[in-house]
Amino acid sequence: MRFSALRLLKEALTGQKGWAPLWRSPEPQPAYDIVIVGGGGHGLATAYYLARVFGQKRIAVLEKGWLGSGNIGRNTTIIRSNYLLPGNEPFYEFSMKLWEGLEQELNFNAMVSQRGVLNLCHADAQRDAYRRRGNAMRLAGADAELLSPAQVREMAPFLNFENARFPIKGGLLQRRGGTARHDGVAWGYARGADQLGVDLIQNCEVTGFRIEGGRVLGVETTRGYIGAGKVGVAAAGSSGRVMALAGMRLPIESHVLQAFVSEGLKPVLPGVITFGAGHFYISQSDKGGLVFGGDIDGYNSYAQRGNLPVFEDVAESGMALMPMIGRARLLRAWGGVMDMSMDGSPIIDHTPVEGLYLNAGWCYGGFKATPASGYTFAHLIARDTPHATATAYRLDRFARGYPIDEKGAGAQPNLH
Ligand SMILES: Cc1cc2nc3c(=O)[nH]c(=O)nc-3n(C[C@H](O)[C@H](O)[C@H](O)COP(=O)(O)OP(=O)(O)OC[C@H]3O[C@@H](n4cnc5c(N)ncnc54)[C@H](O)[C@@H]3O)c2cc1C
Repeated sequence: MRFSALRLLKEALTGQKGWAPLWRSPEPQPAYDIVIVGGGGHGLATAYYLARVFGQKRIAVLEKGWLGSGNIGRNTTIIRSNYLLPGNEPFYEFSMKLWEGLEQELNFNAMVSQRGVLNLCHADAQRDAYRRRGNAMRLAGADAELLSPAQVREMAPFLNFENARFPIKGGLLQRRGGTARHDGVAWGYARGADQLGVDLIQNCEVTGFRIEGGRVLGVETTRGYIGAGKVGVAAAGSSGRVMALAGMRLPIESHVLQAFVSEGLKPVLPGVITFGAGHFYISQSDKGGLVFGGDIDGYNSYAQRGNLPVFEDVAESGMALMPMIGRARLLRAWGGVMDMSMDGSPIIDHTPVEGLYLNAGWCYGGFKATPASGYTFAHLIARDTPHATATAYRLDRFARGYPIDEKGAGAQPNLH
């Protein structure tokens, strides 16, 4: 079933009776060529590209809850490719290009909205760092503009320009950045994968791996044993726990990150704005809610809920940046579990177990990576070589001394 304006019109005139579920609910088969663990954005995108681009067959995605119940449905929806380091920037720009054609590719409205991402700077040194980052972005084919304080003011007059504690010295703008509807992305990839014959199996938790002679043979699940030629793990915040089942200890810590949404307001924010003197980012959803967030809670946890001190910290940053936010009422807040790597960059690699592949370490930036993560992970699984844009995301880079330390924060997950 293809979605189109004609189809909408037909359904409107015939009582909306022709819509079918977006994907099937098949029983698990005894074995597959490829099993993906985790039905979040990355797992679903991987399955989709495995079938669509790399011609793989007999693929299953195993999800312990329901599709979209993890971070893919919990994030603050920001997409961008404004990275500095050569290990990262080409990958995120590849992702941005995939975002730009995603809705046509999937025939699904994922509400991709390139309304711009503006990073504010509040000191001369920070402006210099942004200039450097903008130049690196442009060298990698991305767009970047350095704005003066007057240009920022024209774009966002409601920011605190008068006697502010953190004066705004300008900003780095990526106009092609923006937002996308997070769970719509999961549904779009799920529908696309299902149409290509991928079995999406919900309520199916992987509880163990069957490994013999250093090779993975399949997975134990709450719905029985499932054999597999290859297994790809894309379990985000649960990566540490899942890979422990295969006897591996990852360079990853799990931390909570919270998100906040205000009541619906008239359009006020032109795009995504990030505060440069604290950790705070904000955008406005199409329904009018201000969607914002800040730092991780800073302690190890697998709980999908956060604590009040971070709530307060985020509110303080919001007030420092745009005092008018103090008059908005908060509607809801929630938490998700972040797979924080030691350098803040992801891992897309083989593991020491033959046939077992790992996609993890997305920290709080994995939503924007969803298309490229799926594509490059599918490339690795299908061809056994890394995609050209993901060669730096090696699991052993910490042991070899090649971290991709985008923030220059060192091996401290709570600082990334
Ligand atoms: C509050 C918040 C705000 C964020 N904001 C942004 C943002 O603005 N921009 C951005 O780029 N990123 C953002 N992120 C990060 C981004 O959401 C994640 O990095 C990304 O979604 C992780 O990949 P995923 O979608 O595959 O994860 P998930 O959706 O978490 O998928 C992993 C899946 O694995 C399943 N699973 C776990 N264990 C098992 C098992 N044993 N068996 C079977 N299945 C299992 C889980 O149930 C889950 O569905 C944010 C995250 C949060 C929580």
